[in-house]
Amino acid sequence: MALGHRGFVRKRTTLLFLVFALFYVAVAGRLFYLQVLRHDHFKKRAAAIRFRQIPITASRGSIYDRNGDPLAVNIETASIFANLREMPDKSKTACQVAMLLDRKPNSIEEKLNSGRSFVWLDRQIDARIGDEVWKRRTSLPGIGVQRDTKRVYPAGPLAAQILGFTNIDNVGAEGIEHFRNSILKGVDGEYRAELDSHRRVIPETRHIMRNPENGRDIYLTIDSTIQHIAEQAIGNMAEKYHPKSACAIVLDPSTGEILALANYPTFDPNNARKSKPAFWRNRAVADLYEPGSTLKMVTAAAALNEGISPNTVLTYCTGREKIKGGRLTCTLHRPFQNGHGRTDMYRMIEQSCNIAAAHLAMRLGSKKLYKYEKAFGLIDRTYAGFGCEAPCSIAPPEDWRLMRLANIGFGQGLATTPLQMAGVYATIANNGVRIEPTIIREIRNPDGTIYKAFKHGKKTRVISSEAADMATKLLVNCVENGTGKTAGIDGRTVAGKTGSAQVAREDGRGYESGSFIASFMGFAPASKPRLVIAVVVNRPQGSHWGATVASPVFKEIGEKSLWYLKVPSDAPDKNETKPKRDGDRNRVAFSGSSNNSFLAF
Ligand SMILES: [Zn+2]
Repeated sequence: MALGHRGFVRKRTTLLFLVFALFYVAVAGRLFYLQVLRHDHFKKRAAAIRFRQIPITASRGSIYDRNGDPLAVNIETASIFANLREMPDKSKTACQVAMLLDRKPNSIEEKLNSGRSFVWLDRQIDARIGDEVWKRRTSLPGIGVQRDTKRVYPAGPLAAQILGFTNIDNVGAEGIEHFRNSILKGVDGEYRAELDSHRRVIPETRHIMRNPENGRDIYLTIDSTIQHIAEQAIGNMAEKYHPKSACAIVLDPSTGEILALANYPTFDPNNARKSKPAFWRNRAVADLYEPGSTLKMVTAAAALNEGISPNTVLTYCTGREKIKGGRLTCTLHRPFQNGHGRTDMYRMIEQSCNIAAAHLAMRLGSKKLYKYEKAFGLIDRTYAGFGCEAPCSIAPPEDWRLMRLANIGFGQGLATTPLQMAGVYATIANNGVRIEPTIIREIRNPDGTIYKAFKHGKKTRVISSEAADMATKLLVNCVENGTGKTAGIDGRTVAGKTGSAQVAREDGRGYESGSFIASFMGFAPASKPRLVIAVVVNRPQGSHWGATVASPVFKEIGEKSLWYLKVPSDAPDKNETKPKRDGDRNRVAFSGSSNNSFLAF
């Protein structure tokens, strides 16, 4: 019995020994596995926890006008954040931080109680306030400061729709900022640093892995002064006629450079989010409209280039005419209440005769007219550098019925952008050679060296130099004797054409009743064109005539810009009986539309 008991105890001891032995073998094996076999793996993991790769933000490129005036630049700012895991007393911290940031303590406390472990308390604030917070960091556990930059637009709303703006993370959200973000943003760098037990960077351990490549600077073709003149002129018109929207474009016909592009309504890109998104829209390039009578000039230019004489009588206009598929009508005024009568190309442009333009279009035929419309840049999308240019909307010429052809002849049934139409007048002003318009003049590296030099857009001859000359004569006659009189500038020869078109309905079924687009397109001085100016006003109130609403804008922009560019006068000044001194000329040039003696249309 006793032996039996001893034997039992020995057996149990042996078993226990074996169990322990196995346990130690397992532990040793696991240790060997972890420390020897997986050594590298765990070393890497430990390093990953202790070290961190942190991006170094590249500085965003600036945007300048053609003369190097800054339009979009960066300023140093600070952003304040809270790390809640390290904050012992939220309400005490909230009070202290609120004082420094000049905010209400409960608005800060609300953020601290949001339940997240990391929150931004304020972003892109004055760098000096950031410095104040940083100085007090030992008494503000859990509060941190990050150096940041902020995009500012020193000229305020100037050229807002061209520039666009960036979001809080400095990424382009609209305009050139958005569409040329890849040029401006640069490439972020990176540094590696060790973290302390609170997972904060230990500054002495910073090690730069890759330096940031700063963004490139963009120089636009616009001239801030002309841009300002154009915006002011559009604004003056808007005060009087309260349109839904409007735009003005100023082009240099010899290079295709856009010197100004103004939109109404407008906004301040420094506070973009405070205005409606509709205000951000660059209507001059992103919106399509039916150009109306300004398009008659394409029909006329095509006919002139095809050898039709400007003195050939095209039709006898009685104000209305039936053709297959519909009826043509002219808008009539004194002394043409009974129609425009015997109408040649001169009268067609001078009095804006729809019926004569329709006849001219029918004479050319749809294929030929379409060919010229394409050559003038109306069919294909423009690539001026904005990135948001709308494509034209038009059916192929094979599908045009007679009525469609007649309508297109005088400007309806085809939708283009205001910039495309400005391009038509620039082509005529440039002796018949079209140059694709551009908004970006050059791109420079951060060190100031040129990355992409200015090169004007593609050049193509659209009409002969003789045809362009004749077309200019038709336009000068329109301003001197016809509907364009209100665009006349004293001391300058002016070529141009009015337009008043109904607004096409969005569903494509006919036109909105009572809604018009008033426009004027032209150039000056006609003898040696320096500026092409296009004005398009969408749904003005009180008058819908291009001559009343749009021509004065053309005149104001032309008068002031030519004076600013010191372009010598090429016509006698009707207001002058004797030559004036320079000082007097300044006064005349900036007197605005003091002699507004325009006609009834
Ligand atoms: Zn007519």
